Amino acid sequence: MLPAWFIYSATGVLGALIGSFLNVCIFRLPRGESIAWPGSHCPSCAHSIESYDNIPLVSYLWLGGRCRSCRAPISVRYPLVEAANALGYLTIVWFFGPGWTAALYALLFSALVVVTGTDLSHKIIPNVITVPGTVIGLLGAATVLPVGLLNAVLGMTIGSGILWLLAWVSPYVFGKEGMGGGDIKLLAMIGVFLGWKPALLTIMIGSLAGSVIGISLIALRIMKRDDYIPFGPFLVLGALLSMFFAQPLFDWYQILLGPGY
Ligand SMILES: [Zn+2]
Repeated sequence: MLPAWFIYSATGVLGALIGSFLNVCIFRLPRGESIAWPGSHCPSCAHSIESYDNIPLVSYLWLGGRCRSCRAPISVRYPLVEAANALGYLTIVWFFGPGWTAALYALLFSALVVVTGTDLSHKIIPNVITVPGTVIGLLGAATVLPVGLLNAVLGMTIGSGILWLLAWVSPYVFGKEGMGGGDIKLLAMIGVFLGWKPALLTIMIGSLAGSVIGISLIALRIMKRDDYIPFGPFLVLGALLSMFFAQPLFDWYQILLGPGY
């Protein structure tokens, strides 16, 4: 057994390194660019970034948040995504213990980080993330994930089914497009990893958080009534809360209902 300090250090470093790659995905996927080629370059001056200036988190601080060659500010999104991914991996390993379950949930976490980034910047939830993510989740559920294959299939069907229904009725009920196909496929991926009850919880938390934030932004006149609010980040919030708290919440609900339920 490896010592805990080693597992956590390795997890944090791996999370930051993969976070650095997620930044590339968030920037390039909505633009239809290759994520493998060319290497990282400054979006302002196109100067290629040397490996010693491409160390997650460290380089941003070392360079004072500016490009070495043109001094253009580097978006704070880069260190934020790296830190978020490292923190997410650490939380998952702490919560589930090191192993296959943690590795697959870390993969889901990274997929959710990319989806949040692309939905906020371009209102796009890329299929190249959610479709392979759903397949990997199904394979995981059939083998090592505690969710089990049947629950995973139910999660995918019920979760995406409800969003599909909401997308279909919302032009009639709310007079505007509620969500797109990207949100439906996102819920399919979340559903296979977490199962049907957490998938429902994800939609409930996502809708509640989305409504509260949306109404507040309109009330504060930061947004207009027909402005588009991406739903993806709220579903991601719901999925993360469900990943960690669904079981305790259901247990608590069961106690509340009393014996026999
Ligand atoms: Zn530059």
